[in-house]
Amino acid sequence: IQADEWLIHGEENMVALGRRLGDVLCRQPASAVIFLLGDLGAGKTTLSRGILYAFGHSGAVKSPTYTLVEPYQFADRQVFHFDLYRLGDPEELEYMGIRDYFVHNNVCLLEWPVRGEGYLPQPDLIIATHVSGQGRLVKVQANSAYGVQVLRALQQ
Ligand code: ADP
Ligand code: MG
Repeated sequence: IQADEWLIHGEENMVALGRRLGDVLCRQPASAVIFLLGDLGAGKTTLSRGILYAFGHSGAVKSPTYTLVEPYQFADRQVFHFDLYRLGDPEELEYMGIRDYFVHNNVCLLEWPVRGEGYLPQPDLIIATHVSGQGRLVKVQANSAYGVQVLRALQQ
């Protein structure tokens, strides 16, 4: 199976799903690129917060709407949280040195990747969140061999 979905009720459970995904990513010393799709309010930043908690971050996670990227440095990993919502021209990503983020064992979480089309690598996972009643439907699609491995671990 290359895709799966979870119906998540409440912010705490959304953080918990992110944490489970983060735990999987944490165990693998591999770079990961994760696209987070969904409207404003769909829960992308909340899910990112859970991922960051798994790596050891505590405290707030704000969407880097104006700075475009927020770096998180851990002992042997870096996680970069992007929000490209306000990106004017995808070419700006070149000036940011965008390619240098997708190296080593870095984990890159990207909200609004569609704004950077043409300047971003193929993601390992595409996560699409939608409002569903009081909760959120979270669809996770594997988009690389590594993505399949991560999805399988998440399903266990
Ligand atoms: P986005 O980054 O996609 O714009 P946020 O992560 O900032 O969205 O979340 C928007 C709001 O939705 C927040 O108030 C958050 O608490 C709430 N939320 C997130 N996930 C869920 C969920 N699974 N069920 C209910 N509310 C949620
Ligand atoms: Mg957000």
